[in-house]
This record gives sequence, structure tokens and C-alpha cells, in this order.
Amino acid sequence: MVAMIVDAHAHIYPPDLARVILGRFAGGFNGSMPGRPDEPVATDDQIGARPAADLNESDEHDCHHGHDAPVTVPTEPAPTEPAIEAPAMRLAGPVTLDEATVSMDRIGVDRSWILPVAGTPKWVRATNDWVLETARKDDRFTPFVSLHARDPEWRDELERTVAAGARGVKMHVALQVKEGSDFLVSDEMSEIFQAIERARIPVVCCTYFPNEVGSGKAGASLRLLDVLQQFPRLRLVAAHMGAMFNWGAGSEPILGSRAYLDLAYVPGMVDPKTLVSWIRAHGADRILFGTDTPYADPQRILDAFCDLPLDEDEKAAILGRNAAAMMGEAR
Ligand SMILES: [Zn+2]
Ligand SMILES: [Zn+2]
Repeated sequence: MVAMIVDAHAHIYPPDLARVILGRFAGGFNGSMPGRPDEPVATDDQIGARPAADLNESDEHDCHHGHDAPVTVPTEPAPTEPAIEAPAMRLAGPVTLDEATVSMDRIGVDRSWILPVAGTPKWVRATNDWVLETARKDDRFTPFVSLHARDPEWRDELERTVAAGARGVKMHVALQVKEGSDFLVSDEMSEIFQAIERARIPVVCCTYFPNEVGSGKAGASLRLLDVLQQFPRLRLVAAHMGAMFNWGAGSEPILGSRAYLDLAYVPGMVDPKTLVSWIRAHGADRILFGTDTPYADPQRILDAFCDLPLDEDEKAAILGRNAAAMMGEAR
């Protein structure tokens, strides 16, 4: 049996944003990426067409980072030194829709959830419209939408996009609410989670909280547990196994909760036996495969996942069955 593969964590960019992303990471781009043999990256002049302020505050993940070597996660971080240092970010996978389509065909990904991230309110609507339109044209894509707590019209945007076919929301809370690690506690964030619960669609939350990396703290995970308790019907996916770059101390509290966890970026970063122990502690029926393209190479993530010492049924559940069931697409 060949398992269905759903990439439940893919960032694919509309053309104007793709240009910004490619320009920004021109120096760090991995030229061996599938589907991009020798396409030139955007020039400074092209990027210059966009106001500098847009570049600085646009919606890119500051959260995603290149991966140089696997990280062995200590069970108890040393008190004086960070346990894990977030490596420098670079592009390692497809950025544009064309590239993503080629990459999916090549790797054998049947479906990708497109997770947009609007770092400022002004990007929200156009980005969401592009994702929705893309998914309407090609049913291999599942459209998620971005909301922004500082967008006074976020309630209307949620209603509008759900009516237009949005299947979930992506929140990148650290960028979208306020600086620091207490963003999740804000009232506006609670209101957004409540509205998403009422809309009966899942939410994928990025879990990169810079203040907690290497600190031995788990404040963000504890807050996510509060959210789960406060909104009992909310389907929440805590990305990156619950605590990006803060695996271990940060992710421990959420293991075994009713959250879903995605694997985006993680395979190859964490010792395989440790990762399998976390997957089983949580329950393989609530783990979703995801790549985090373009910040990780999807082929490498898939290979690293397939090498994990899991049984075939666990792999099939994680690779696609869980995500399909979440979207009512079980087959
Ligand atoms: Zn993330
Ligand atoms: Zn991501």
C-alpha cells in the first residue's frame, strides 16, 4: 500500500511576495532545490520597487531557519547555555506555486495545505484571496487563511474567507500580536481563537517563541493548553511538535494533550529515537506530517520522516490519514 501524503504545513507564496522572499534570501538559497534548476532570483532593483518598510515588516516568518546539523535535545537544558541555537534562516524548498507543484509531483505529495502568514494587516486580504483562488483552480491545495489581531476587520475577514472556502486559519502569533512571549495571553488572541472555534475550522499555530528557546521554559505550551481548555471544540494544531527550537522542555507539557502537533521542520533536527518517543507519548493519531517548505527541503523532511523507527500504520496515519480525516476527506 502506498500511503497518501499530505503536506499539512507548506508556505507557498503569491508572485509578488515570492519575489520579496527570493530577493531577501538570495544569498542563502540552495540551488539544488527541485523544480528550480537555474532560475535567477529577484534583483535588488525588482525588490526596490517595493517600499523598504514593506520588506522589513512583511509577512515573512522570522521563525524559520536553515538546518545545518541535527540537534540532540537534552532532557534538561544546561542552566547557563542555550540548549539549542536557532540556525540562520535560508530557503531550501519551493517558494512559488509552479515550483511547489513540480516538487509535489516529484516527491509524491498528494495534497498541500497552504499556510499564509500576514505579518501586517495590510497583507491579509490579498494573500488570502490568492490562496483561495489557487485552491479553487487546483484541488490538491487546501486553503488556510491568515488573520491579524491588529486588523480591525479580522472578524469580517474570517467570515468572508470561510464563505469563500477557507478550510483553516494559520496564526503566527509572535509576529501578529505583539513582541515578547506573552502575546498568547492577550484578549484579542482569545477572541480570535473563540471565533475560529465557532467557525468550526482548525487553526495551525506557529510555536516559535524566541524568548523561550533554550530557556527551559514552557510558557507558550502552557498557554496553548489553557486555550484548549477554554475552547473545548477548537481544533488546534501546534506546529513544529509544539515548541520550535525549544523541543524538550518547551514541548513536554503539550505531549498527550488533545492538540494536534505537526512535524514541520522537525525530522532531521531531533534525534530519531527521541522524536519517535514524543510521537508515541502524544499519540500518532494526532500527529500531522508537514514540511515547512521553503524553509526546509521537503524531500529531505520526507526522507527523514520515512527513516523514523515507526510502524507502517503509524506512518500512514501521520503522512496523510490524520490530515485527511481532519478535513473530512478520509478515504
Ligand atoms: Zn513556524
Ligand atoms: Zn512554517
